[in-house]
Amino acid sequence: MGVPVPDAEPAAPAAPAPLPPPGAVAGFVQSEEPDDSYPTELETPSQGMRRIHEQGGWNRGRQYHRLLIHCTAHDGCRTQREISVQTCRALGDLEPMAFLGAWIEAAGGFTTAGAHARHRPGIAAVRAFFDTMD
Ligand SMILES: [Zn+2]
Repeated sequence: MGVPVPDAEPAAPAAPAPLPPPGAVAGFVQSEEPDDSYPTELETPSQGMRRIHEQGGWNRGRQYHRLLIHCTAHDGCRTQREISVQTCRALGDLEPMAFLGAWIEAAGGFTTAGAHARHRPGIAAVRAFFDTMD
């Protein structure tokens, strides 16, 4: 009989499959007015100012709230990061943005959008990017 252990949560979901173009994701509604909690742009050293798309809603009975970013190094390349207790655990509310920034900065290590899209930056890379954010 133990107290629930917070760290017993399941690991973050696997990297998403290659995604269709923005606006074409079945079952998802892009929020018209992102709320004020997240900046809509992210400054990255390697790709400059990148637009951040905040999305939220319901899919198959499950609520989601996430940030999405496009990479300019590969055609049609993008990734997203869920905003959740797990994805904000180490660094707080801006951790999902730092994740996206770290993902952008890793672009040079990949030759295809598919390979880059499957990349999930580790916490060290996320933390390093976080430290460059204002
Ligand atoms: Zn890319």
